[in-house]
Amino acid sequence: MTNVLVVGAGPTGLTLAVDLARRGVSCRVIDKEVTFPAGSRGRGMQPRTQEVFDDLGLIEAVHAHGSVYPPIRAYQGGEVVWEGTMSEYVEPSADVPYPNPWMIPQWRTAQLLRDRLAEFGGAVETGTELVGFEQDEDGVAATLRRDGVNERVRVAYLVGADGGKGPTRRMLGVPFDGETRDDIRMLIADVRVEGLDRDHWHLWREPMIGLCPLGGTDSFQLTIADPDRELSTIEQLAAYFAERTGRTDLGLSGLTWLTVWRPNVRMTSRFQVGRVFLAGDAAHVHPPSGGQGMNTGVQDAYNLGWKLAAVLRGAPEVLLDSYEQERLPVAAHVLGLSERLLARRTMHRGHEERQLGITYQDGPLAVDDRPSPGSVVAGDRAPDGPCGDGRRLFDVFRGPHATVLAFGAECEGAVRVTDPEAFRIYDVEPGTLVLVRPDGYIGVITRDAGRLGSTGWYSRDAAMVS
Ligand SMILES: Cc1cc2nc3c(=O)[nH]c(=O)nc-3n(C[C@H](O)[C@H](O)[C@H](O)COP(=O)(O)OP(=O)(O)OC[C@H]3O[C@@H](n4cnc5c(N)ncnc54)[C@H](O)[C@@H]3O)c2cc1C
Repeated sequence: MTNVLVVGAGPTGLTLAVDLARRGVSCRVIDKEVTFPAGSRGRGMQPRTQEVFDDLGLIEAVHAHGSVYPPIRAYQGGEVVWEGTMSEYVEPSADVPYPNPWMIPQWRTAQLLRDRLAEFGGAVETGTELVGFEQDEDGVAATLRRDGVNERVRVAYLVGADGGKGPTRRMLGVPFDGETRDDIRMLIADVRVEGLDRDHWHLWREPMIGLCPLGGTDSFQLTIADPDRELSTIEQLAAYFAERTGRTDLGLSGLTWLTVWRPNVRMTSRFQVGRVFLAGDAAHVHPPSGGQGMNTGVQDAYNLGWKLAAVLRGAPEVLLDSYEQERLPVAAHVLGLSERLLARRTMHRGHEERQLGITYQDGPLAVDDRPSPGSVVAGDRAPDGPCGDGRRLFDVFRGPHATVLAFGAECEGAVRVTDPEAFRIYDVEPGTLVLVRPDGYIGVITRDAGRLGSTGWYSRDAAMVS
């Protein structure tokens, strides 16, 4: 029997499919579309998402196909009137190897995820739509439609990663609270531009028009705030651009994608109903301000994947409850952040958007029994650092398993950490044991090896979590 049906092959569904495939969980991933979407869309990959992709074995491919955000150059016609950056460039450090947002078009991210899925023998079933489901105590019976023919499939779990307009949430009867604003419109298109350097993000004002070179491609993302007339062809875009910026010397061509976007800020109050889960845009939709939407969806999937695998292998089912308990507060927080950035309409991005500070400290899986915890506590992201044996912690974490770090201590099955830099980063005393979850968050900090097994999901027999 297929264990998990993933509905929707956007970044969220694909991340989950890759994570399940590498754990050997049998899974089908379907998408109603026949062809894969073009479009730069979520082109800002935040540092935490890069860490997820490092763990999934994808970071080299991601870094081979994108770029850091270029500096911004603002013009009045052809004259440069301002130069600056969207965010300060941060040097990589021992604990944060990828501190800067990475620009990579969403179509490329999805392609890389599909390629990775193929390496595990998986593939997206395109042109296959979820049209209904019922669930009982033991599983979910779903109806899929392909080429007008219905198929019934029974699975243990169904994950709706079917985007803001997908049917899973509706079929569950879960409301999508929030608002869609009609007072703000942004046209976004992928085009080619002759005569403009690719080393800057170029901006003009009144109306705000941007041309941002898309790393790893020969296209630019064109943005036009509140265009006052219908623009749908490359000829209309080129004429409008020349008229409003005065730059008749630049040639726009090669339109591959265009959308008119309105801020849509909505969230569901449930991420799980029985054996059905919601993830990504299906659970929360964001304004693109701050580049959080795709990133939050990828991290939903990464939070859920190991839990589904662990429960399918015999861990207590209550582990799955922690998905909503951990991710709902994060999504709510991130939505507030996206909205604040939209209200400020600022180009500047700070530390919070990088998503490295996301923590599950208040969640049900965090156990920290030290009398006086340090600056890093259970529930926090497990930082990178040197082990002391030539390896980096991220090398040790990479893959589907959980890891026990024994700081200056012996513990069966643990990785012994001796480098003083790692003690500093984790802010721990010698003798401390740190259990790092398969998704790179700290599950337990203790001095008592007996506490590690009390989690319910960890056992030294790594099969439980791999
Ligand atoms: C203009 C724009 C700019 C953006 N910029 C950013 C950014 O800079 N950074 C960022 O992080 N995010 C950004 N986002 C948001 C980002 O694109 C979304 O958050 C992201 O696509 C969500 O991924 P997802 O996989 O959850 O959903 P989606 O990408 O929407 O994928 C859902 C999939 O489900 C499929 N589906 C739907 N119904 C069914 C069904 N019944 N059966 C089978 N399949 C179905 C759809 O065909 C689709 O392929 C932007 C969005 C837009 C529109």
